[in-house]
Amino acid sequence: MSNPADAYHDWDVAYLLGSLSPAERREFENHLVSCPVCADNISALAGIPGVLSALSPAQAAELMDPVTTPATAVPRRLARRLAWAGWAAAGAAAGALAARWWWSKDS
Ligand SMILES: [Zn+2]
Repeated sequence: MSNPADAYHDWDVAYLLGSLSPAERREFENHLVSCPVCADNISALAGIPGVLSALSPAQAAELMDPVTTPATAVPRRLARRLAWAGWAAAGAAAGALAARWWWSKDS
């Protein structure tokens, strides 16, 4: 069970997706040494980056759409984290497209 009093309990997906700053990453890794709950969450969610890399941003967003995805299909806590991850994936895809456009405009 997660502990809402744990200031790090929502950092797991950001950690796994590489969204934490270097200082935050070190802080979270230091926390993982002494917090079995967060360490277990990291283990449980470790496959998310691989799953998201196989999805398009639209597919990731659709996965979290309550209209198309039954609430019982995804546990609520995982759904919240996947929704965040879906937006992160969409942002990363938009960034990649912007970078591709930026580099291609001069060629
Ligand atoms: Zn913790």
